[in-house]
Amino acid sequence: MTRSSNLGFPRIGAHRELKKALERYWQGESDAARLLAIAAELRARHWQLQRDKGIEVIPSNDFSLYDQVLDLTAVLGAVPPRFAGEKAGLDTYFAMARGTAAAPAMEMTKWFDTNYHFIVPEFHAGQRFALSARKPIDEFLEARALGIHTRPVLIGPVTYLSLGKAKDAELAPLDLLDQLLPAYGQLLAELKAAGADWVQIDEPVLALDLSDAQRAAFAKAYAALAPLAPSIMLTSYFEGLGDNAELATSLPVAGLHIDLVRAPEQLPVVLKALPADKVLSIGIVDGRNIWRTDLARQSAVVDAAWSVLGPERLEIAPSCSLLHSPVDLAGETGIDTELKSWLAFATQKLEEVVALTTAIQQGRAAVAEAFAASAAAVLSRRTSPRTSNPAVRARLAAVTPADLSRVSPFSTRRERQKQKFALPAFPTTTIGSFPQTSAVREARAAFRRGEIGAIAYEDFLKTETEKTVRVQEAIGLDVLVHGEFERTDMVEYFGEQLEGYAFTRNGWVQSYGSRCVKPPVVYGDVTRLAPMTVKWSAFAQSLTARPMKGMLTGPVTILQWSFVRDDQPRSQTCRQIALAIRDEVQDLERAGIGIIQIDEPALREGLPLRRSDWAAYLDWSVDAFRLAASGVSDDTQIHTHMCYAEFSDIMDAIAALDADVISIETSRSDMELLEAFTSFAYPNEIGPGVWDIHSPRVPSQADMEAMLRKAALAIAPEQLWVNPDCGLKTRGWPEVEAALGNLVAAARTLRAGT
Ligand code: GLN
Ligand code: ZN
Repeated sequence: MTRSSNLGFPRIGAHRELKKALERYWQGESDAARLLAIAAELRARHWQLQRDKGIEVIPSNDFSLYDQVLDLTAVLGAVPPRFAGEKAGLDTYFAMARGTAAAPAMEMTKWFDTNYHFIVPEFHAGQRFALSARKPIDEFLEARALGIHTRPVLIGPVTYLSLGKAKDAELAPLDLLDQLLPAYGQLLAELKAAGADWVQIDEPVLALDLSDAQRAAFAKAYAALAPLAPSIMLTSYFEGLGDNAELATSLPVAGLHIDLVRAPEQLPVVLKALPADKVLSIGIVDGRNIWRTDLARQSAVVDAAWSVLGPERLEIAPSCSLLHSPVDLAGETGIDTELKSWLAFATQKLEEVVALTTAIQQGRAAVAEAFAASAAAVLSRRTSPRTSNPAVRARLAAVTPADLSRVSPFSTRRERQKQKFALPAFPTTTIGSFPQTSAVREARAAFRRGEIGAIAYEDFLKTETEKTVRVQEAIGLDVLVHGEFERTDMVEYFGEQLEGYAFTRNGWVQSYGSRCVKPPVVYGDVTRLAPMTVKWSAFAQSLTARPMKGMLTGPVTILQWSFVRDDQPRSQTCRQIALAIRDEVQDLERAGIGIIQIDEPALREGLPLRRSDWAAYLDWSVDAFRLAASGVSDDTQIHTHMCYAEFSDIMDAIAALDADVISIETSRSDMELLEAFTSFAYPNEIGPGVWDIHSPRVPSQADMEAMLRKAALAIAPEQLWVNPDCGLKTRGWPEVEAALGNLVAAARTLRAGT
């Protein structure tokens, strides 16, 4: 019989129980036993929920106290030597994730194109692996003791090694496959001995461009592992298999999972290539977004697969683990019933998988109600006036290429801006935010609870802003900012003021460890109802004769950090947001703000997984930025900011943004990342960060001077600005004042030419 399955459930808990338990444990407010009890309770609750919903193939080992990649590192005994002195077990595990006084944490990076961050495995020359913890086996047995037979989930060996980093130059992580396989094989054998009949092995690198070495590693790994293992469900997601389809279908595994939400076009290819002894798991409920599934449409996909495979070789699943979805829509009391009827969170997605499975097992009549509700929601969403705003569409259709360009080229703008602002050489500025102290957070919380009124809260923000302006003047910065005290978050602040956006109360998704984010939801055409930032920027400008920089978040970043509609291309949603930001830019200019920064920290992370898709993405994302930025006169100076500087492969796009000034993060690499700008002969102005604001360390004047001198060798001094790496919201006032004082002094020394 065709089976319903799930690939992973969010572990954080409907009320973020895991987050709270972890933080209490880290603060020493509870002990390990308490933490582990809550973790076990969550696992049990989630297994039971899946069973109650009717999921037949329920995952285990999808739970993690911090991160599933770190779990595998611990299980395989690949603990970096600097943690070897730690007590084994829980403390070592958290030390790797979070660091200790003696040993810095392991690196963390984004999991493919999601906003989930994993702990990057570290490999050394002479790296050994040995089965060192029994978590996957223990959790399988734990579920079985509750009467639930699960399919354990493991990250596959090729993905695990591919995501790791070698700490020795001569070592290529994939070369460790021979060392890894015995330990990995033992783990699989023990799972089998414990009674597991299937395992889900996640190999999401199958959706990427693979090297020959990776392909060879796949062949070798699965030839070695398959004979020892339970039946393997080889799992890919986040993109189509593309040119890896032949490889994936030829490996000696019992089943293959494909993501048919991201890449529906791969179904016929895979159906054709799949050998007759393999099961196909079709991912047809979107694990990455919050929209309700069109059951009728996806049911047609099931039928297409069923007609080739028959009932025995088919499984129905979400596109990927539900880790990337919020837990339960039932908790959303603040969303109106119409909008709510369009949404599905992880719990509802389980029901959708089951409805699709029941429809093929027993006929649609058996789930007529679920199909009718889905059809009604699809129809209401398609025809609702809330999703389509004719004025926005007409405006977008009328955008001309001229709207995407400044009046004059940079060389002309630069002269006009020089005259207007008369800034010194090596002008100094900051990235926008100043310390979000506990006083700022408390005032906001009190305002939200209704304990202080709107006027009192606004007065408080004005006082903070004025203090910040005075501090910047006293330090001697050239271009000031207002400090961003009125904002909690650089996307939420704008989303709350845009039409077409909704906010959830409890739509938390794990970002890393105990951290969760609550992305806003774009459900309709986006438009700006009123100016969003002008009041604050104009107020701050009224306090000072120095130029006040207006602060905006760019359209690509707003898009990237939201749940976006799936009924039109992302590019179109992005252009709508760009128009709203363009209006804001023009209003700021009209209000006398001559320098405007449009932050795009998420531009790079939006890059598609496959290289062949990069050009199209960069085209529309650069256009969106230009649409937002180009509606101003030549003497208005547009800045942009990005929290990284790995630009070598996208320099054309960065230059095409045509921002007058770009600030980037370079201090941690000691300016090495500037190299991309040098070899590209980047024409506009650049502020390479000279202060690593992620560290509490206050850099000295000499430190920053040395970095600036290094930068001035790579980039013409006339092009250089002096600024920190990023915003200062996480820093304290004393360090900010000290470091900015040193920064201004460093800039002055360079100006003096000494
Ligand atoms: N302007 C924002 C700030 O200073 C930029 C934050 C970011 O780049 N992530 O906080
Ligand atoms: Zn930044």
